[in-house]
Amino acid sequence: MTVTVRFAPSPTGFIHIGNIRPALFNWLFSLKTGGTFILRFDDTDLERSKAEYAKAIENDLAWLGVHPHRIDRQSERFALYDKAADVLREAGLLYPCYETADELERRRSRARALGRPPVYDRAALKLTDEEKARFEGEGRKPHWRFLLPNHDGDPFITRRTDVSWTDMCRGDQTIDLASLSDPVLIREDGTYLYTLPSIVDDIDMGITHVIRGEDHVANTGVQVAIFKALGAQPPVFAHHNLLTTRDGEGLSKRKGALSIGSLRDAGFEPMAIASLAVLTGSSQAVEPMATMEALQKKFDLSSISKSSAKFDPEDLNSLNAKLVHEMEFCQVQERLISMGVNVAEPFWLTVRGNCGKVSDARTYWQAVHGPILVETADEDREFLAAAARLLPEGEITSETWGVWTGLLKAETGRKGKALFMPLRKALTGLEHGPDMKDMLPLIGRQNIQARLP
Ligand code: GLU
Repeated sequence: MTVTVRFAPSPTGFIHIGNIRPALFNWLFSLKTGGTFILRFDDTDLERSKAEYAKAIENDLAWLGVHPHRIDRQSERFALYDKAADVLREAGLLYPCYETADELERRRSRARALGRPPVYDRAALKLTDEEKARFEGEGRKPHWRFLLPNHDGDPFITRRTDVSWTDMCRGDQTIDLASLSDPVLIREDGTYLYTLPSIVDDIDMGITHVIRGEDHVANTGVQVAIFKALGAQPPVFAHHNLLTTRDGEGLSKRKGALSIGSLRDAGFEPMAIASLAVLTGSSQAVEPMATMEALQKKFDLSSISKSSAKFDPEDLNSLNAKLVHEMEFCQVQERLISMGVNVAEPFWLTVRGNCGKVSDARTYWQAVHGPILVETADEDREFLAAAARLLPEGEITSETWGVWTGLLKAETGRKGKALFMPLRKALTGLEHGPDMKDMLPLIGRQNIQARLP
């Protein structure tokens, strides 16, 4: 079987670290299986869906390294949904209902008060043609419900009807269709809810595996019934856990700060974000993977845990730093140039271990080329003057620092921090940074001399 998966966002906002997880899971699964990955915009809500959000999602995915084989838009596929609705109507499985939202709410409250589950009682199935005509005459428009197959011919006598599937993340799952209301598939204004278009597309696009958040588990029983009503075999399902903050809060409040665009602007590496998003909430250690290929090897749907995926946005900093420490010069050269850091390989190899983000290289660029601002403490003035005198002749190499500080130690009696720190500060303007033995050749004799009294 060739695998076909889809990531199906509604383009009603920017994607963030939580909702890129299904994108990444689907992408990695397609890489693992040599399958096809479709980006499907669920944009049937024409008012809330925006082309600029769809574009931003495409760009964010590309930046992360997710490259769809195909892009579809539900807003261009209404004819297919209309056809499927007709098929269901003709089979007597999609029926018009005229209750208002208020009426439905009253009925639900009554059921709850009587201790009954608030399941829709299918009253609309009892409407005569005259009653329907009267409603229409009053200007009421019907919404349409799918008749769940939870009865033996008489829809008013339901019986337990288990829909079961083996979920690739959650194991065996069962939903009793008799516990559910017939789902509304089409609203009064004729617009589709998410359910039917999603199933029609999954069938039409030959989706073999539906990998999505566990907030959709409850929908799956209904969806399986509709797949079957449309004569199709349901796909394999995998419902992954949802990302929350450490204290269990959903991401809704932090969405802005954790949007992929703002993380990119803050200088994070795509693979740090992808590694965190994929490995958090799994039995795998959360480590930075340098490539999608490496992440794909670590990724396994069955290793996703059943409890929520708790994460601390701070973890991104350490993952990012670990990736940056290993990055080759060729991977960063262009970015460095675009930041005005026009350097050769030895500079990068010297500073990368001290960079949490690639952009931190700017700090060390400044430390090398200046200008640097330091106030020399009075007690260090003489020491630094001695340093200026004792700087070894000849080329400044990685040996120079050891020889130089050896001479200084002998002459001044200083050692440890009292020996190194005034030099580091005077020569780089910083209290921390890469090894001075490697910095010295980058700074060069001229700058060294200029920075000493
Ligand atoms: N548009 C739906 C969502 O974003 C897709 C759910 C699904 O994958 O079936 O929740």
